[in-house]
Amino acid sequence: MPIILDGKALSERVRHRLTEKAAALRSAGRRAPGLAVVLVGEDPASQVYVASKIKQTQAVGMVSIEHRLSASTSEADLLALVEALNRDDTVDGILVQLPLPRDIDSEKVLFAVDPAKDVDGFHPVNVGKLAVGAKALVPCTPRGCMALLKEARRDLSGLHAVVVGRSNIVGKPVAQLLLQENCTVTIAHSKTIDLPGVCRQADILVAAVGRPEMVRGDWIKPGAIVIDVGINRVAKPDGGSRIVGDVDYATAAQVAGAITPVPGGVGPMTIACLLENTLDAYESRQAAYAAAA
Ligand code: NAP
Repeated sequence: MPIILDGKALSERVRHRLTEKAAALRSAGRRAPGLAVVLVGEDPASQVYVASKIKQTQAVGMVSIEHRLSASTSEADLLALVEALNRDDTVDGILVQLPLPRDIDSEKVLFAVDPAKDVDGFHPVNVGKLAVGAKALVPCTPRGCMALLKEARRDLSGLHAVVVGRSNIVGKPVAQLLLQENCTVTIAHSKTIDLPGVCRQADILVAAVGRPEMVRGDWIKPGAIVIDVGINRVAKPDGGSRIVGDVDYATAAQVAGAITPVPGGVGPMTIACLLENTLDAYESRQAAYAAAA
């Protein structure tokens, strides 16, 4: 049986640590970190994600600042709000929930966020810092993947990691983080030739594809660590639906040395890492103030 990398349990430990940290700040007479979440429009999935982020922010004792704007909000008004949040000293992290309405240029908005408050890690300054190995705010899901990997094995040095998927949100930043851990990294994608053969070389296999149960047990090297980022809703015979990953868990678990379940693996780590990023942003900003004083 493989080691099950339990993201639910690990995220609870992360949130416990953050709760203690926020409480310690308050009892020292300092303000707790603040996370501003901006939601534009009524996309149902986004509403669920935002509600969950707000709830977890408050649960760890951080300050949640919520901005819900109508779907007809103009790009100029949204940019003005981002600028106001950039200037607000009580705001340490800014998260603009995607997707934005079609009339708004998402890139323009994300790039307007102060890189020091960019807790999603999407700003080119943070992307560039990650690429050169400098201290950066790192995208939340990749950060969660690395935390889960470290549960399986502390030293990843020299291992061959194959990342399937090259999105800016998951695949590319995970690959950068694996490189920082001295892995030999292969990034595979939809044009990769002999994907099963490439995957079979992996000591670490990260699947971030968005294709339900695509990676099967016979694609996996015996003993490999498998991180399944995928969240795919598939129909059940009874007319309902269930969530599956990009990895066929039943066959993969027979071969892997360690594996993340879906749900309960990478998913719960994403918001926990958003809160970790908020604390990191808070601490970096406080250190910058202290240095400037
Ligand atoms: P994305 O932007 O759609 O990127 C998917 C990547 O997979 C692309 O690079 C694409 O290659 C590659 N791909 C697609 N079909 C392929 C195939 N048949 N063989 C090999 N590669 C293929 O997706 P994403 O945002 O990275 O998300 C990936 C999955 O992770 C989704 O299921 C998403 O729901 C999930 N996700 C989960 C979390 C979480 O919190 N757990 C967070 C974010 C995303 P090309 O570049 O060549 O098109």
